[in-house]
Amino acid sequence: KPHIHLQIQISLFGDEDRLIVAKDVTRLYQLEQMRRDFVGNVSHEMRTPLTVISGYLETLVDHGEELPPKWRRAVTTMAVQASRMEALITDLILLSRIETGEHTVDDTLTDVEALLNQISHDAQALSGDKNHQITLSISDHRLLRGDESQLRSAFSNLIFNAVKYTPAGGDITVVWSTNRDGAHLLVKDTGIGLDPIHIPRLTERFYRADPSRHKDTGGTGLGLAIVKHVLINHDGNLEIRSKVGEGSEFICHFPRERLVERAPDNNQNVP
Ligand code: ADP
Repeated sequence: KPHIHLQIQISLFGDEDRLIVAKDVTRLYQLEQMRRDFVGNVSHEMRTPLTVISGYLETLVDHGEELPPKWRRAVTTMAVQASRMEALITDLILLSRIETGEHTVDDTLTDVEALLNQISHDAQALSGDKNHQITLSISDHRLLRGDESQLRSAFSNLIFNAVKYTPAGGDITVVWSTNRDGAHLLVKDTGIGLDPIHIPRLTERFYRADPSRHKDTGGTGLGLAIVKHVLINHDGNLEIRSKVGEGSEFICHFPRERLVERAPDNNQNVP
Protein backbone atom coordinates (compact mmCIF):
# COMPACT_ATOMS: atom_id res chain seq x y z
CA LYS A 1 0.00 0.00 0.00
CA PRO A 2 1.62 3.30 -0.98
CA HIS A 3 2.45 5.65 1.87
CA ILE A 4 1.98 9.38 1.71
CA HIS A 5 4.62 11.51 3.43
CA LEU A 6 3.53 14.88 4.74
CA GLN A 7 5.62 17.69 6.11
CA ILE A 8 3.58 19.75 8.56
CA GLN A 9 4.46 23.25 9.65
CA ILE A 10 2.46 24.98 12.39
CA SER A 11 2.80 28.73 12.96
CA LEU A 12 1.25 30.44 15.99
CA PHE A 13 -0.20 33.95 15.81
CA GLY A 14 -1.10 35.40 19.20
CA ASP A 15 -3.09 33.15 21.54
CA GLU A 16 -5.72 31.86 19.18
CA ASP A 17 -4.67 31.76 15.57
CA ARG A 18 -2.80 28.93 13.98
CA LEU A 19 -1.60 28.55 10.43
CA ILE A 20 -1.09 24.92 9.49
CA VAL A 21 0.61 24.11 6.22
CA ALA A 22 0.79 20.48 5.09
CA LYS A 23 3.07 19.73 2.19
CA ASP A 24 3.05 16.45 0.32
CA VAL A 25 6.71 15.35 0.22
CA THR A 26 6.01 11.80 -0.97
CA ARG A 27 7.86 12.28 -4.25
CA LEU A 28 10.89 13.75 -2.49
CA TYR A 29 10.88 10.83 -0.06
CA GLN A 30 10.68 8.33 -2.92
CA LEU A 31 13.55 10.02 -4.75
CA GLU A 32 15.67 9.90 -1.60
CA GLN A 33 14.87 6.19 -1.25
CA MET A 34 15.85 5.60 -4.90
CA ARG A 35 19.10 7.47 -4.40
CA ARG A 36 19.97 5.31 -1.38
CA ASP A 37 19.11 2.08 -3.16
CA PHE A 38 21.10 3.15 -6.21
CA VAL A 39 24.21 4.02 -4.20
CA GLY A 40 23.88 0.78 -2.25
CA ASN A 41 23.51 -1.35 -5.41
CA VAL A 42 26.30 0.34 -7.35
CA SER A 43 28.67 -0.03 -4.40
CA HIS A 44 27.85 -3.72 -4.14
CA GLU A 45 28.42 -4.27 -7.87
CA MET A 46 31.75 -2.45 -7.77
CA ARG A 47 33.13 -4.37 -4.84
CA THR A 48 33.84 -7.67 -6.58
CA PRO A 49 35.77 -6.34 -9.62
CA LEU A 50 37.69 -4.02 -7.33
CA THR A 51 38.67 -6.90 -5.04
CA VAL A 52 40.04 -8.75 -8.07
CA ILE A 53 42.04 -5.70 -9.27
CA SER A 54 43.45 -5.08 -5.78
CA GLY A 55 44.38 -8.72 -5.38
CA TYR A 56 46.43 -8.75 -8.60
CA LEU A 57 48.01 -5.39 -7.76
CA GLU A 58 49.10 -6.69 -4.36
CA THR A 59 50.70 -9.68 -6.07
CA LEU A 60 52.56 -7.34 -8.44
CA VAL A 61 53.74 -5.19 -5.51
CA ASP A 62 54.98 -8.33 -3.73
CA HIS A 63 57.04 -9.24 -6.83
CA GLY A 64 58.24 -5.64 -7.28
CA GLU A 65 61.88 -6.59 -7.77
CA GLU A 66 61.00 -8.64 -10.85
CA LEU A 67 59.35 -5.63 -12.52
CA PRO A 68 61.20 -3.11 -14.71
CA PRO A 69 62.12 -0.19 -12.36
CA LYS A 70 59.96 2.37 -14.18
CA TRP A 71 56.88 0.18 -13.58
CA ARG A 72 57.40 -0.29 -9.85
CA ARG A 73 56.20 3.16 -8.84
CA ALA A 74 53.16 2.95 -11.09
CA VAL A 75 52.17 -0.41 -9.64
CA THR A 76 52.61 0.79 -6.04
CA THR A 77 50.53 3.92 -6.73
CA MET A 78 47.79 1.84 -8.33
CA ALA A 79 47.72 -0.50 -5.32
CA VAL A 80 47.41 2.43 -2.88
CA GLN A 81 44.61 4.04 -4.89
CA ALA A 82 42.78 0.73 -5.28
CA SER A 83 42.82 0.24 -1.52
CA ARG A 84 41.50 3.80 -1.02
CA MET A 85 38.68 2.98 -3.38
CA GLU A 86 37.98 -0.22 -1.44
CA ALA A 87 37.73 1.78 1.79
CA LEU A 88 35.32 4.15 0.06
CA ILE A 89 33.12 1.33 -1.23
CA THR A 90 33.09 -0.32 2.20
CA ASP A 91 31.95 2.96 3.81
CA LEU A 92 29.30 3.56 1.13
CA ILE A 93 27.85 0.09 1.62
CA LEU A 94 27.88 0.54 5.39
CA LEU A 95 26.27 3.97 5.18
CA SER A 96 23.51 2.83 2.86
CA ARG A 97 22.75 -0.13 5.16
CA ILE A 98 22.65 2.08 8.22
CA GLU A 99 20.53 4.72 6.46
CA THR A 100 17.94 2.25 5.30
CA GLY A 101 17.73 0.83 8.80
CA GLU A 102 18.52 -2.66 7.50
CA HIS A 103 20.01 -3.53 10.87
CA THR A 104 17.76 -3.65 13.87
CA VAL A 105 19.33 -1.96 16.83
CA ASP A 106 16.94 -2.67 19.63
CA ASP A 107 17.41 -6.27 20.61
CA THR A 108 21.11 -6.46 21.29
CA LEU A 109 23.21 -5.36 24.23
CA THR A 110 26.63 -3.83 23.72
CA ASP A 111 29.40 -3.90 26.27
CA VAL A 112 30.68 -0.37 25.64
CA GLU A 113 33.57 -0.82 28.04
CA ALA A 114 34.98 -3.81 26.12
CA LEU A 115 34.28 -2.10 22.80
CA LEU A 116 36.10 1.09 23.76
CA ASN A 117 39.03 -0.91 25.13
CA GLN A 118 39.45 -2.66 21.77
CA ILE A 119 39.09 0.52 19.74
CA SER A 120 41.58 2.45 21.90
CA HIS A 121 44.01 -0.39 21.48
CA ASP A 122 43.60 -0.25 17.68
CA ALA A 123 43.90 3.54 17.79
CA GLN A 124 47.26 3.24 19.57
CA ALA A 125 48.40 0.92 16.78
CA LEU A 126 47.15 3.42 14.17
CA SER A 127 49.05 6.19 15.94
CA GLY A 128 52.26 4.15 15.59
CA ASP A 129 55.35 6.39 15.56
CA LYS A 130 53.19 9.45 16.20
CA ASN A 131 53.02 8.26 19.80
CA HIS A 132 49.77 9.86 20.83
CA GLN A 133 48.84 9.61 24.47
CA ILE A 134 45.46 7.87 24.37
CA THR A 135 43.56 7.86 27.68
CA LEU A 136 40.33 5.91 28.20
CA SER A 137 38.12 6.52 31.19
CA ILE A 138 34.91 4.62 31.97
CA SER A 139 32.69 5.55 34.88
CA ASP A 140 29.61 3.46 34.13
CA HIS A 141 29.77 -0.25 33.49
CA ARG A 142 26.20 -0.82 32.37
CA LEU A 143 25.44 -2.15 28.89
CA LEU A 144 23.99 -0.12 26.04
CA ARG A 145 20.95 -1.42 24.18
CA GLY A 146 22.10 -1.11 20.58
CA ASP A 147 23.79 -2.69 17.61
CA GLU A 148 27.41 -3.46 18.42
CA SER A 149 28.68 -3.33 14.83
CA GLN A 150 27.08 0.06 14.20
CA LEU A 151 28.39 1.43 17.50
CA ARG A 152 31.82 0.06 16.68
CA SER A 153 31.81 1.94 13.35
CA ALA A 154 30.68 5.17 14.97
CA PHE A 155 33.08 5.09 17.91
CA SER A 156 36.05 3.99 15.82
CA ASN A 157 35.42 6.72 13.26
CA LEU A 158 35.53 9.35 16.01
CA ILE A 159 38.57 7.92 17.79
CA PHE A 160 40.53 7.24 14.56
CA ASN A 161 39.71 10.78 13.36
CA ALA A 162 41.20 12.12 16.60
CA VAL A 163 44.40 10.19 15.76
CA LYS A 164 44.36 11.32 12.10
CA TYR A 165 43.84 15.01 12.86
CA THR A 166 46.25 15.27 15.80
CA PRO A 167 49.96 15.84 15.23
CA ALA A 168 52.56 13.52 16.78
CA GLY A 169 52.70 13.50 20.55
CA GLY A 170 49.21 14.98 21.05
CA ASP A 171 46.67 13.82 23.63
CA ILE A 172 43.47 11.94 22.91
CA THR A 173 40.96 11.48 25.70
CA VAL A 174 38.00 9.12 25.53
CA VAL A 175 35.43 9.30 28.33
CA TRP A 176 32.28 7.20 28.75
CA SER A 177 30.07 8.66 31.47
CA THR A 178 26.43 8.88 32.52
CA ASN A 179 24.21 11.38 34.28
CA ARG A 180 20.47 12.00 34.66
CA ASP A 181 20.09 12.71 30.93
CA GLY A 182 21.74 9.52 29.71
CA ALA A 183 25.11 8.24 28.55
CA HIS A 184 27.80 10.27 26.85
CA LEU A 185 30.91 9.42 24.89
CA LEU A 186 33.44 12.23 24.72
CA VAL A 187 36.30 11.98 22.22
CA LYS A 188 38.65 14.89 22.73
CA ASP A 189 41.90 15.68 20.96
CA THR A 190 44.60 18.35 21.02
CA GLY A 191 44.84 18.33 17.24
CA ILE A 192 44.53 20.74 14.33
CA GLY A 193 40.88 21.55 15.12
CA LEU A 194 38.60 23.23 12.61
CA ASP A 195 36.77 26.49 12.08
CA PRO A 196 33.35 26.23 13.81
CA ILE A 197 31.64 27.54 10.65
CA HIS A 198 32.10 24.02 9.23
CA ILE A 199 30.38 22.27 12.15
CA PRO A 200 26.78 22.35 10.82
CA ARG A 201 27.84 20.63 7.59
CA LEU A 202 30.45 18.22 8.96
CA THR A 203 28.16 15.19 9.01
CA GLU A 204 27.19 15.55 5.34
CA ARG A 205 28.52 12.88 3.00
CA PHE A 206 31.94 13.82 1.56
CA TYR A 207 32.10 17.16 3.39
CA ARG A 208 35.64 17.97 4.51
CA ALA A 209 36.46 21.04 6.57
CA ASP A 210 39.54 21.98 4.62
CA PRO A 211 40.63 19.44 2.03
CA SER A 212 43.95 21.17 1.37
CA ARG A 213 44.99 20.78 5.02
CA HIS A 214 44.67 17.04 5.11
CA LYS A 215 44.71 15.46 1.71
CA ASP A 216 47.15 12.83 2.95
CA THR A 217 45.00 11.48 5.80
CA GLY A 218 43.35 9.04 3.42
CA GLY A 219 39.81 9.54 4.71
CA THR A 220 36.67 8.89 2.71
CA GLY A 221 34.65 11.89 3.93
CA LEU A 222 31.91 9.46 5.02
CA GLY A 223 32.99 8.84 8.61
CA LEU A 224 30.93 11.50 10.33
CA ALA A 225 27.89 10.77 8.12
CA ILE A 226 28.10 7.19 9.42
CA VAL A 227 28.39 8.46 13.01
CA LYS A 228 25.32 10.67 12.57
CA HIS A 229 23.14 7.89 11.20
CA VAL A 230 24.24 5.39 13.85
CA LEU A 231 23.26 7.92 16.51
CA ILE A 232 19.88 8.56 14.84
CA ASN A 233 19.27 4.78 14.91
CA HIS A 234 20.01 4.82 18.66
CA ASP A 235 17.87 7.90 19.49
CA GLY A 236 21.05 9.81 20.18
CA ASN A 237 22.76 12.88 18.82
CA LEU A 238 26.22 14.27 18.13
CA GLU A 239 27.67 17.45 19.58
CA ILE A 240 30.82 18.99 18.09
CA ARG A 241 33.10 21.68 19.50
CA SER A 242 36.36 22.78 17.97
CA LYS A 243 38.96 25.52 17.71
CA VAL A 244 41.58 25.82 15.00
CA GLY A 245 44.99 24.89 16.34
CA GLU A 246 43.66 23.82 19.75
CA GLY A 247 41.69 20.66 19.17
CA SER A 248 38.22 19.19 18.91
CA GLU A 249 35.56 17.50 21.02
CA PHE A 250 33.00 15.10 19.60
CA ILE A 251 30.31 14.00 22.05
CA CYS A 252 27.76 11.25 21.41
CA HIS A 253 24.67 11.49 23.61
CA PHE A 254 22.40 8.49 24.25
CA PRO A 255 19.12 8.59 26.18
CA ARG A 256 19.16 6.89 29.60
CA GLU A 257 16.49 4.39 28.48
CA ARG A 258 19.23 2.67 26.48
CA LEU A 259 21.30 1.76 29.56
CA VAL A 260 20.83 -1.76 30.95
CA GLU A 261 22.25 -3.35 34.12
CA ARG A 262 24.67 -6.19 33.58
CA ALA A 263 23.45 -9.66 34.49
CA PRO A 264 25.27 -10.95 37.61
CA ASP A 265 28.50 -12.72 36.67
CA ASN A 266 27.83 -16.44 37.28
CA ASN A 267 31.39 -17.53 36.67
CA GLN A 268 32.78 -15.54 39.56
CA ASN A 269 33.12 -18.44 41.98
CA VAL A 270 34.28 -21.07 39.57
CA PRO A 271 37.63 -22.38 40.88
P1 ADP B 1 37.30 12.05 6.64
O1 ADP B 1 37.32 10.72 5.97
O2 ADP B 1 37.67 13.19 5.72
O3 ADP B 1 38.02 12.08 7.94
P2 ADP B 1 34.88 12.41 8.20
O4 ADP B 1 33.46 12.40 7.77
O5 ADP B 1 35.32 11.43 9.23
O6 ADP B 1 35.74 12.30 6.89
O7 ADP B 1 35.22 13.86 8.73
C1 ADP B 1 34.80 14.99 7.96
C2 ADP B 1 35.74 16.15 8.16
O8 ADP B 1 35.66 16.63 9.50
C3 ADP B 1 37.21 15.80 7.96
O9 ADP B 1 37.59 15.87 6.61
C4 ADP B 1 37.89 16.89 8.78
O10 ADP B 1 37.95 18.08 8.03
C5 ADP B 1 36.92 17.12 9.92
N1 ADP B 1 37.29 16.39 11.16
C6 ADP B 1 36.77 15.23 11.59
N2 ADP B 1 37.30 14.87 12.78
C7 ADP B 1 38.19 15.84 13.10
C8 ADP B 1 39.07 16.06 14.22
N3 ADP B 1 39.15 15.20 15.26
N4 ADP B 1 39.84 17.20 14.21
C9 ADP B 1 39.76 18.07 13.18
N5 ADP B 1 38.97 17.92 12.09
C10 ADP B 1 38.18 16.81 12.05
